[in-house]
Amino acid sequence: MSDAQPTAPVTQDVVTIPRKLPESGRVNLVGLTRDQLRDALIAAGTPEKQAKMRVGQVWQWIYHWGVRDFAAMTNLAKDYRSMLAERFEIALPEIVTRQVSADGTRKYLLRIAGGHEVETVYIPEENRGTLCISSQVGCTLTCSFCHTGTQKLVRNLTAAEIVGQVMLARDDLGEWPEQGAPKNETRLVSNVVLMGMGEPLYNFDNVRDAMKVVMDGEGLTLSRRRITLSTSGVVPEIAKTAEEIGCLLAVSFHATTDEIRDRLVPINKRWNIEALLAALRDYPRLSNSERITFEYVMLKGVNDSDEDAKRLVKLIRGIPAKINLIPFNEWPGSPYQRSDWERIEAFADIIYKAGYASPIRTPRGEDIMAACGQLKSATERARKSRAEIAAEAGLRGA
Ligand code: SAH
Ligand code: SF4
Repeated sequence: MSDAQPTAPVTQDVVTIPRKLPESGRVNLVGLTRDQLRDALIAAGTPEKQAKMRVGQVWQWIYHWGVRDFAAMTNLAKDYRSMLAERFEIALPEIVTRQVSADGTRKYLLRIAGGHEVETVYIPEENRGTLCISSQVGCTLTCSFCHTGTQKLVRNLTAAEIVGQVMLARDDLGEWPEQGAPKNETRLVSNVVLMGMGEPLYNFDNVRDAMKVVMDGEGLTLSRRRITLSTSGVVPEIAKTAEEIGCLLAVSFHATTDEIRDRLVPINKRWNIEALLAALRDYPRLSNSERITFEYVMLKGVNDSDEDAKRLVKLIRGIPAKINLIPFNEWPGSPYQRSDWERIEAFADIIYKAGYASPIRTPRGEDIMAACGQLKSATERARKSRAEIAAEAGLRGA
């Protein structure tokens, strides 16, 4: 390779804070899997014989009823409740700001331990409500069209902080059931997409544990088919995702040649298109799920030609797929432009005629910078300069 640049963008200099928070000294129960919760309750003195039942009770209070106060867990003995309150807490990230777009999209800026901030977006649609959650503060990857990728500071979110985003959205939407009230079948948060800040497959264990909590049959109960994990292409983790999470998969494909994909999604230098496609071919069988979503951001003059569309359908032949075209969302200093509407439609048409669904993703919440790829906590000042962004995009001198 003539490229003397180190293939650095895939480093993982991220940290996870321990579950025991220094502020309170109590262990946070949010985000623990059932097994972890069992261990925690036993360690606190719960007799092993009772542990399963206690896990079920505490779980239901936290995830079905949305209770935050141990004192309200009325089917537990008073002494047991006070023991829980002494040893544990039910803690969520703190909402710093909430913005509501003209189209109803809500964007939350959340503060987590260490004073870091992440964003979560709620997108109401006619027949569903999708919560777009973050998995990291910032992202170690540096996709040149993505605002999050310009954020320098990164840390992994804990499972508690990931599950906490779903719980906070339910709080804000008033979605917890009321005791005694008839069951409400329409769900406001009916789908979860891991498409916020961060690369979920670089925080695999916490994302997996959090999704186990979210998918559990008692509590938040989102089926695995209502969860979509989007990855830029961390190939070795894709089979693990199928086996250990089993959710739907979306992949940030974005280009049809390695040359262009190297520039747009630099992880391609580590695992190229061919390696990525090989992993994707196995995914539906391993996860027993349906189609993979290929995300394709439409960048004017970069990846939006008829030839690109034709190459794309050729590349993915044989993979059950849907191609989601995302009109590029601009952000301050972004080095690209959105493809013209006619171009996007012509591109979509070629894909459609080849037999694939090719929805064009309507940008939501643009007025509050909540659309795909625009997330980046505004208070996070450690941002790259325009020149750095342009250099990474291969647009030297732009
Ligand atoms: N890190 C993961 C998930 C987060 S990004 C990933 O890259 O897949 C969610 C989607 O938004 C990805 O497909 C991403 O490539 C896309 N995206 C990022 N920046 C964008 C922008 N400015 N305009 C449109 N889509 C963007
Ligand atoms: Fe990270 Fe995804 Fe943005 Fe790339 S597109 S920088 S992987 S968040």
